[in-house]
Amino acid sequence: MEKIILTGDRPTGKLHVGHYVGSLKRRVQLQNSGEYDKIFIMIADAQALTDNADNPEKIRQNIIEVALDYLSCGLDPEKTTIFIQSQVPELCELSFYYMNLVTVSRLQRNPTVKSEIQMRNFETSIPVGFFTYPISQASDITAFKATTVPVGEDQLPMLEQTKEIVRRFNAVYGETLVEPEILLPDNKACLRLPGIDGKAKMSKSLGNCIYLSEDAEEVRKKVMSMYTDPEHIKVSDPGKIEGNTVFTYLDAFCTDEHFKKYLPEYNNLDELKAHYQRGGLGDVKVKKFLNSVLQEELEPIRARRKEYEKDIAYVYEILKKGSEVAQAKAAQTLAEVKAAMKINYFEDKDLIAEHIKKYSEK
Ligand code: ATP
Ligand code: MG
Repeated sequence: MEKIILTGDRPTGKLHVGHYVGSLKRRVQLQNSGEYDKIFIMIADAQALTDNADNPEKIRQNIIEVALDYLSCGLDPEKTTIFIQSQVPELCELSFYYMNLVTVSRLQRNPTVKSEIQMRNFETSIPVGFFTYPISQASDITAFKATTVPVGEDQLPMLEQTKEIVRRFNAVYGETLVEPEILLPDNKACLRLPGIDGKAKMSKSLGNCIYLSEDAEEVRKKVMSMYTDPEHIKVSDPGKIEGNTVFTYLDAFCTDEHFKKYLPEYNNLDELKAHYQRGGLGDVKVKKFLNSVLQEELEPIRARRKEYEKDIAYVYEILKKGSEVAQAKAAQTLAEVKAAMKINYFEDKDLIAEHIKKYSEK
């Protein structure tokens, strides 16, 4: 069986370091590993509209931003198909059929959708499209026969839902769809990177992000303002590591090499943590170290972005070509789905012959 990757992002803003450690960095590694037969990366504009129906301009403006972020992180259009979800109408058609395989109560149990409904104050009036977006995600994944979906932890319930739809579909209509596997980051801190305000998740919608495209000074300011341990007031105070965002970011980003380069008095993060916990280590010193680590990671990304920004027409061309490739693949799967459901009437010679016979014998 072919090894196929499908994943994507909502164009609700520029991409941030949470996306980077949660999924983007891994995608580039997988792309360059050469182990995958096909890689599809989707800019999920149709999904973004499910909770931004009254603000289509926001989505329209951010498609190019997400595309630039992809390319600047090292996604290569020669190896990876980058496409725009709404340009593949087959995905809607698949969703329409999958909807019959899912109950309302099953959707209501989805913990990610539950918390997102709360976050968006949708409790009293949930848009139907938003409520059903896990089904639309199942269409995105299955349309490309994806075997591997590299995403952050918040996507676990979506993958579960997709697997259920695949099993149900195959059981009812015969073996057609492929069951995907989720690929979560190995590093625990990357599963759900918190915001700079210490909130559970860095998220475009919460405005607590460090963006990949921000300049060095903006990143530095954000790092210096980050949430730490509110009870660690004097340098001599013992400090807490748990829930301390600066240390979570160090868990996500730093290596022993960084210590050699920027903080040689410690060998590794464990030593730095131990000092902080004992007392005698100030937040400013830790933040300055984190800033050096982040700048080193972000600098080449910023430089590549500047290059692509000079040729926006070319970036749109990449998206157009990618959308055509994606559409052809989705159309193939949709044809198989309709054949399995026996709703491909005009290709079904047996059905037509049977009915001709039935009426000729009357
Ligand atoms: P929105 O607020 O519009 O939902 P978002 O910041 O949550 O935006 P998405 O486009 O929904 O971003 O997510 C894209 C991908 O990035 C998903 O795979 C998701 O799991 C991952 N991701 C998003 N935020 C984080 C985070 N803070 N830590 C790790 N992974 C993340
Ligand atoms: Mg999200």
